[in-house]
Order: sequence, then structure tokens, then C-alpha cells
Amino acid sequence: MQIRDRYAPSPTGLQHIGGIRTALFNYLLVRSQRRRSGEGAFILRLEDTDRSRFDRRYVQNIYDTFDWLRIHWDEGPDTGGPAGPYIQSERLELYKKYALELEAQGLAYYCFCSPERLERLREDREAAHSSQSGYDRRCRDIDAGEARRRAGAGVESWTIRLKIPLGEYTRFHDRILGDVEWKNDDINPDPVLIKSDGFPTYHLANVVDDHLMGITHVLRAQEWLSSTPLHVIMYGAFGWEPPEFCHLPLIMGTDGKKLSKRHGTTSIDEFRSQGYLSGALINYVALLGASYEEGKDIYTLAELEERFSPEKLNKAPAIFDYKKLEWYNGVYIRMKGDGELAELCLPYAVKAGLFGGPGQEPNEEQRNLFIRAMPLIRERLVYLNEAAAKLGYLFTEPEVPPAEEFIPKKGDLAAAVTLLRGGRELVKPLAEAADDETAETLIKDYAEKNAVKLGDLMMPLRVAITGARVSPPLFGSLRLLGTERSLERVDRALARLS
Ligand code: GLU
Repeated sequence: MQIRDRYAPSPTGLQHIGGIRTALFNYLLVRSQRRRSGEGAFILRLEDTDRSRFDRRYVQNIYDTFDWLRIHWDEGPDTGGPAGPYIQSERLELYKKYALELEAQGLAYYCFCSPERLERLREDREAAHSSQSGYDRRCRDIDAGEARRRAGAGVESWTIRLKIPLGEYTRFHDRILGDVEWKNDDINPDPVLIKSDGFPTYHLANVVDDHLMGITHVLRAQEWLSSTPLHVIMYGAFGWEPPEFCHLPLIMGTDGKKLSKRHGTTSIDEFRSQGYLSGALINYVALLGASYEEGKDIYTLAELEERFSPEKLNKAPAIFDYKKLEWYNGVYIRMKGDGELAELCLPYAVKAGLFGGPGQEPNEEQRNLFIRAMPLIRERLVYLNEAAAKLGYLFTEPEVPPAEEFIPKKGDLAAAVTLLRGGRELVKPLAEAADDETAETLIKDYAEKNAVKLGDLMMPLRVAITGARVSPPLFGSLRLLGTERSLERVDRALARLS
């Protein structure tokens, strides 16, 4: 069977962890099958029927996010395809047609209840501490002919509601959860299919589109599970075969509560501006609620495509651990070569003003220096946006810190000056040393001969060169700055100290 599945976001908010996991699993399901049989399609469908919360910038955010993640759909609003349009607001006539079809068969009905009445109903029930919620089905028994006449008269505003068969059960099979059974009387009472603004609700548009677009598998967050019985009733009412359902495990924070802003950011934009690599994010998100291979943590997208299947998905909730994601980011950073890592860090460094001011692009020389500086920070970088702060001293002359910063633990200013003078003698050989080992031997020999502690010797020199006690490696920094610039810095520090 050819698998067709979809990611169906509503452009009512920024893309977040839960959303991209849904998209990723749908993408992987199709890709894994395509590797075997060459068939299948992953579809993007924009569910933009909630006009009050719609915003165009959320649509753009969907495109930007998946561009960045390098996850591409086979059919969608931008790519086109045989089942389009892929934007629900461009399919309004279709939904109306199908809703009217159900109405004509007595499976749906016109409702004339005003928003005010529904609000009052809700308030009255609340005041009476009633356990009932949702619509009271007041218009369900209006004679159909009468209702059509009223709707056609164009005076009253109306909606169309699904007539849920009462006193029955709805059953479906979920690929992860197994057999699910729902008492119809417990389903959201007669949900609206067509709203008074003529737009369909999520339920109607979702079912109609999944059918018309030939969707075979619905992988979506477990939050939607309670909507599924309703959808199954609609498939039945239309006489359509429902797709295979697969409700993905919930995502929790480490405290066991549903992941939300309280735990930290969940917006992909924010992860991105913080300096996460898309590969790290994909790798980690692909493991949220799935297990592939014992003892293997790192997966490229291609490896995930090879391994994914719904059988790898767990029932139990997934835990989103920011620390673990951070670890992944570090691992991915360390897998990059100098050139590639520099390319990744560059936009952040430009924004931070590393090359002469915010937004200033590097010149040729600065760019080369930036690339050559990558080995100095690769091991310590957690986020891509940290490069500018760590490497500032290579691009701008650091201020000479206050004298205390130069003074070793059991020493005084005089000792610091002596040590730094010693360090000065070493600048040229260290800056010209072929590598770290050579530099280390040099400085160790010097420390031994002069009976000073290696640490005490290095510390004032480090402060003079980098402007701080904690910095990227000293030897590499000296090599990048060169003898002349390094000596200037030491001399400036000495002048300040004496
Ligand atoms: N538009 C829904 C959402 O925003 C789609 C849910 C589904 O996949 O059926 O998540």
C-alpha cells in the first residue's frame, strides 16, 4: 500500500516541539516506506479555519522552520500536488457541500442558537455546578424542512451540527494504543461542522480533507485522541474508510507535567536563535516517544529514515529534557569541521557585532581568523551563539583588566609583574610553536628552570592576552594573534601594572 500522510498545522502560533515531532514522524513514516518501495507522499496541509487566531506570519514560520530543519513535503501549498489546494480556506465550498450532504441525510442539522444563548447555557450550568458541558442539543429536533426554510430565509444566523447517534459506542483501532472504545453519549455533544461565518470547523475540514487527499495514516499528538471518535462517526456517516490512527505519546517535562512554557522555551524559533543545530534538534525530537536501536543515541536524518516504523513508538509519555538536548547540541557541534562550524556560528557572531558592530559582516581576514579560531572553542561550545562572546578578544583589543586579576593566589603585585615579564619572554616562541605540545614543552621547561609554578606563569599571560582569567586555550590564542599583537598586549598590561 502506498502511504500518504500529512502534517496539518493550524497557523495560530509558532512552531513548537510537539508540532515538529508530529511532522517528523509523519515524514519518517513515508520516507522509511519509500526507501523500500519507492512510493508514498508526505503532505503539508494548512488548517487555517480558525480565522480569529490566524496570522500570516505563522504560515511563514511553518515554511521557515521546516526549511531550517531540512524536512520537505512532497505535496503542499508551496510545492503543489494532485490533491490541492492544500490550504483549507481555499476549499470552503467543498466543506459546505459535504456538510449539506450530511444534513440532507438527517445526519447533521441546522442550529440557530446564538453565541449569547450558548454562553448563558454555560454560565447557568456552572452556577448550578452541573456536570454537563457542551451543547444541549436544543435544535436537534427541529423539523428538517422547517430548519431549511429558516436557514434559507437569511434572517437568522445558523451553524450546522453533527447529529451524534446516542446510546451507541464508537470503536477504532489505534496503532499505538490498541483498541479504543468511546461511549457516544460522552462525546462532545453534536459538535459544529459549519460555523456561522461559513467556515468549517477543524473536525469537518480535517475529515473531508484526509479523505479527499487519500490520507492512509494519521499520526498526531495524543491531545487529539478525544476528537477521533467524532471523526470516526463522520467517516461512517459519509460512508468512507477511516485512515489508520496513531496517536503519539504525550511530551512531558522532567517534572512529569505536560511540556509547556513553564519548563522553558518550546518554540523552534527560540531554539534556533539560541544556537541549536537543526540536526541536534531533529535527532533529539525523533527520540521523543520512540526507540530505535539499543545503545545508539546519534542518528542522522537518513539513519532515522531507514529505521523508523510505528512499531518503534512507545505508549508511555516522552520526557523532554533540556539538559539532554543541550548534550546533543554539543555532540553535533563537535562533529563539525572548522569551516562548517564557522559557517554555522557566523550569523550569530555578525548579529552580536563581533566584526565591528551589530550586523557588520566580516572582511576576508576576519573570516579566516574566525574559521581558524574554531578549534579553540569547539570543545566548549554548547550553543552556536556563544562564539562571539568567547572570541571577542581575537577581534577587538581587550581592555586591560584591573591589577587584581593578574595576581596569583599566593602572591602580590610584584610577583605578578615578574611572572608576566617571564611570560613576555615566552610570547615569541609560543606564538611560533608548531602546535600545542611544542608550546607546552617550552613553557614547562621555562617554569622548571625558573622555579615557578606553571599555573602561576600562565595566568597573568592569559589575562594579558585574552583579557580574562577564563578563556579559550592560551597557546592557540597566541598562535592566532601572532608575536607582534601578543607582545603589544603584554606590554600594555605591564604598563598598567607598574
Ligand atoms: N490542525 C490540527 C493541529 O493544529 C491538526 C490535528 C490533526 O493532525 O488532526 O494540530
